[in-house]
Amino acid sequence: LLTFVDILSFEKPKQHALTQSITDLIMHKYHRAPRSLQQEIGPSEIGEDCLRKLAYNIMREPKLNDGGDPLPSIIGTASHLWMEDACNQWNAHIGRTRYIAEAAFPIVPGMPGHCDCYDVDTATVIDWKFPGVTKMTAYKKGGPSLQYRSQAHLYGKGWSQLGAPVKDVAIVFFPRGGMLSGMHIWSEPFDVAIADAALARYYGTTELALALDVEHFPENYMRIPATKGHACTYCNWFKPGDDTGTGCPGWTVK
Ligand code: SF4
Repeated sequence: LLTFVDILSFEKPKQHALTQSITDLIMHKYHRAPRSLQQEIGPSEIGEDCLRKLAYNIMREPKLNDGGDPLPSIIGTASHLWMEDACNQWNAHIGRTRYIAEAAFPIVPGMPGHCDCYDVDTATVIDWKFPGVTKMTAYKKGGPSLQYRSQAHLYGKGWSQLGAPVKDVAIVFFPRGGMLSGMHIWSEPFDVAIADAALARYYGTTELALALDVEHFPENYMRIPATKGHACTYCNWFKPGDDTGTGCPGWTVK
């Protein structure tokens, strides 16, 4: 027969003695990563599907949580470094530059861009993504999110402003928990209008937040349309409970 102590030990599995120290090791580096310290809003953020989240970000509201478990982001960052190295090694191998990796340039004044890759031979702007199983299935079926699509065309705009020909934009999805054979590539012709629409949405949200004076009346964030869903779990302003504007209950709204 199981004792009461046995039952308690089933409910609370014991943590390994190293769990906390390894977590601290990872979180220490994670919070010092350039992306965590980034001040300016960038192309990866302005196409955000949820306008309320975009407004929190634009207004640089203090983050209420870390945005969920950081491991997917850490793996994504490390994989981007690996791809940069792969591009550079390939260029050295063929004796010319085919893939320009991690080029930095402004999209508009005050908005720095950092493009994963530009394929000189096909004039294609490429973004690498490393989604989990659920997202991978969704992207294969329905294409990229508005955020990802906007980001790709914003980089296209940045490259064309530099004078580079841009024929297509592409997103290469690698399954984070899968095989290379599961890679999925989405692409479409570059259209500066898609980039400009994302910028207009960004400027419009900025104007709305200022007009609502959310700085002094945070309850007015409730008047900015919110897109509730799976992504709320990763939102830095996700705060279950009553909606007060200072945080957002997302899909848990009462
Ligand atoms: S919690 Fe969800 S609905 Fe609320 S701001 Fe964040 S992403 Fe938008």
